[in-house]
Amino acid sequence: MRTLLFFYIFTNICAAQLYESTKNSPLSVLSIITKKSYQPKKIVEDFNPLWVDSLKLILPCKNVPVPKRTMRLPNAPRKYRNGIHRGIDFFANWGTKVNAVASGTVVRADHNYKEVPADFRVDMLKASAKVGTTPSDIFNNILLGKAVFLDHGFELVPGFRVITIYAHLSHIEKSIKPGYKISAGELIGKSGNTGMRESTIGSKAGSHLHWELILQKDKEEIYLGRNMPNPELYYMLNRIFKRS
Ligand SMILES: [Zn+2]
Repeated sequence: MRTLLFFYIFTNICAAQLYESTKNSPLSVLSIITKKSYQPKKIVEDFNPLWVDSLKLILPCKNVPVPKRTMRLPNAPRKYRNGIHRGIDFFANWGTKVNAVASGTVVRADHNYKEVPADFRVDMLKASAKVGTTPSDIFNNILLGKAVFLDHGFELVPGFRVITIYAHLSHIEKSIKPGYKISAGELIGKSGNTGMRESTIGSKAGSHLHWELILQKDKEEIYLGRNMPNPELYYMLNRIFKRS
């Protein structure tokens, strides 16, 4: 019995010593460093309504106010593409005039956009489901349809570079080209449903302007109202748009 007890204590001491000697070995330290450097990036800061406290924008479609329905606002789930809505859906009939919400520079204008085949769009959505989120290439090149992006520089919201996106357009004005300096309220084009399922099957149903405002800072891109609850979100959005 005494021999057994002695053997038990002896093996435990050996194990403890072995652990101490390997804990700080170069290989062990390297594995800790490697594990730490591969940790997923955390969101440093979330959207803060104070950032846009003094922001005043022109409604992109005259007399079409910010919608109240949560499904038409930022943060709404978009199950069909495994994603989250980043913008506002302003429901306006096909061909409604779309204007710049603030002055800026055109960075993208899809004058030559051709609607994609219906089957191809379905395949892209299947790919989104496999990835588990909407891949940026599918979102930007297919789902936005005929789009215009404006760069508002660093002045519109102090401390951030701001861009706005106008998507699903049916027409873009000739003057709207990358590098063109656009004024607040200037005509960009007309609303439509490009990039949507209806457009791929030749229908004009579901036409609306999908509009986004993205704030860029510290390696982050934060959409207006990210993770803000309703109705606070609606009140904030309603406040920043001037009646036009
Ligand atoms: Zn939308």
